[in-house]
Amino acid sequence: MTLNARIPSGPIQEKWDRHRFELKLVNPANKRRYTVLVVGSGLAGGSAAASLSELGYNVKCFCFQDSPRRAHSIAAQGGINAAKNYPNDGDSIWRLFYDTVKGGDFRAREANVYRLAQISVHIIDQCVAQGVPFAREYGGLLANRSFGGAQVSRTFYARGQTGQQLLLGAYQALEKEVAKGGVTMFPRTEMLDLIVIGGRARGIVVRDMVTGKISSHLGDAVVLGTGGYGNVFYLSTNAKGSNATAIWRAHKRGALFANPCYTQIHPTCIPVSGDYQSKLTLMSESLRNDGRVWVPKRKGDTRPPGEVPESERDYYLERKYPSFGNLAPRDIASRAAKEVCDEGRGVGPGGLGVYLDFADAIRRLGEDKIRERYGNLFEMYQRITDENPYKLPMRIYPAVHYTMGGLWVDYNLQSTVPGLFVIGEANFSDHGANRLGASALMQGLADGYFILPNTIGDYLAGAKADSVGASHPDVAGAEAAVNDRVRKLLAIKGKRTVDSFHRELGKLLWDKCGMARRAAGLREAIQRIPALREEFWRNVNVPGSDAELNQALEKAGRVADFLELGELVCRDALHREESCGGHFREEYQTEDGEARRDDERFAYVAAWEWRGEGQDPCLHQEPLAFENVKLATRSYK
Ligand SMILES: Cc1cc2nc3c(=O)[nH]c(=O)nc-3n(C[C@H](O)[C@H](O)[C@H](O)COP(=O)(O)OP(=O)(O)OC[C@H]3O[C@@H](n4cnc5c(N)ncnc54)[C@H](O)[C@@H]3O)c2cc1C
Repeated sequence: MTLNARIPSGPIQEKWDRHRFELKLVNPANKRRYTVLVVGSGLAGGSAAASLSELGYNVKCFCFQDSPRRAHSIAAQGGINAAKNYPNDGDSIWRLFYDTVKGGDFRAREANVYRLAQISVHIIDQCVAQGVPFAREYGGLLANRSFGGAQVSRTFYARGQTGQQLLLGAYQALEKEVAKGGVTMFPRTEMLDLIVIGGRARGIVVRDMVTGKISSHLGDAVVLGTGGYGNVFYLSTNAKGSNATAIWRAHKRGALFANPCYTQIHPTCIPVSGDYQSKLTLMSESLRNDGRVWVPKRKGDTRPPGEVPESERDYYLERKYPSFGNLAPRDIASRAAKEVCDEGRGVGPGGLGVYLDFADAIRRLGEDKIRERYGNLFEMYQRITDENPYKLPMRIYPAVHYTMGGLWVDYNLQSTVPGLFVIGEANFSDHGANRLGASALMQGLADGYFILPNTIGDYLAGAKADSVGASHPDVAGAEAAVNDRVRKLLAIKGKRTVDSFHRELGKLLWDKCGMARRAAGLREAIQRIPALREEFWRNVNVPGSDAELNQALEKAGRVADFLELGELVCRDALHREESCGGHFREEYQTEDGEARRDDERFAYVAAWEWRGEGQDPCLHQEPLAFENVKLATRSYK
């Protein structure tokens, strides 16, 4: 299979404009004849569904929560990037483009990233028009703060609740369309398969999560905005419900899966506190604007932080990366935290923690100012740890946070299955091997509000397919397969809980394919995961029935998918014999412990094809060309 990314020709600044002009349009009067199925109503799916309906398409939108307002996007804390240059500190579309390509360690597609930077400025206007209450300066201008991997302030925010406020904006736009009749919303409905007819995505099979009824929805195109798969690691900062089922089932129906091993481990999370824990909590990167990261210089120093004198503290990010300091990008800050903990200088129980200290900022700005900036984050920290971060430094440690991998898409956001579009965190995204903070919201909204509504028309205008009905054999076949799988899970009646399998898989992935990876460990994981999967299908216990609300059954389906995806994550990590961004292979590092890329061999997107159970997946490559940003060793020193 040859991957055609459909990158438009011409100078990078003109590609998107030119492309939009060249895309076919659907006559406004004809749009209502097309039905688009949008799975997901987070920032990506919600904004897409609202925008497509606004254009006149007939939209059906699905989510597994009881309301679109509960999508995982609501958890986003710190902010959203845009190259507005309001602070007049040297930002530009080019700089955001450059920072993102460099931040992703030169493993992203230039044309997509440039378009993202261009669109970033429109997103803010759109959201302000919707009434999103971004923080403002005294004079009324929107305020900005800094995030990692950038030396300018370009992050727009609404205290520590940016995702929630943006989601309310998208939700209102969506509800307006629901009221108008353009969008039909299907909450508490889980997509369990993709229906492909004549080589095109034509529908989905869903399960009503309240009644258990399995049914199909058919349409002219399918859009997946179903979020990331960080929960494959069991412990992550993602919402507990976030899962890979929609994209994984689409993968098994022909959509290639790109760069599955690129996982973002976020440096500032509350450390794991015990085996019973099922979720980790992020402390927003915005805190690194004012917080200073340090550990004691001496190994095994167990003195309380207040008793460690200044001269005996190692502000290791400021020491190692003087020009970016505490705002070094996430992959680099996470590895640096691991390094000091591995040296025995970590703090807190088990030594798996570093301090994030606000004492200097409080002295300089006063406690009120810090409360104004980060009050809700401080409160959250105190509630979880029972420690007062105004008095004691926070203790933080890296945790799985975001997945840069996802379904492969071309410039039009179309997967390798014609008619299947993938947006937001669910696609392999514009972030390369490492996403910069505050860029996920930007990408999800760029995809949903601005890109997809243009590109999907080109597909629809050129592809009016025959109408298909529920009696079509491929529809009946997909439904029967879903029914069989549900029945099979319930019939096993084994001895282990779904969670126990998930936890074991997650620990294996974290140990062998987490912050640091080695060939031997990856090979071991690739051997052990199939055995765990085999045991799952023999020994899992799923109580209850399929005709009711059954969370164990929902989880079982998702964990079964994670057990397959987890293996692909390790295979991808094993094949990529280099270190780049969040993918750190210990064998490939510089003398001072930084990632060593191999551009000769690996400057490509790795896109994997499913070839059936028990078969090895097939690797396809999309070469990456760097014509505007020179390939260079990434340095934040
Ligand atoms: C704690 C935290 C803080 C963050 N803070 C920031 C930040 O400050 N700035 C930033 O840029 N990024 C941040 N991120 C990342 C960002 O929040 C996410 O990448 C982004 O919100 C993902 O949006 P999405 O629309 O792609 O997916 P989600 O918001 O995850 O939405 C997925 C949707 O798909 C639906 N769905 C999934 N599977 C199915 C299925 N099988 N059937 C039916 N429906 C399905 C869900 O119901 C949901 O509606 C943060 C992430 C975390 C974890």
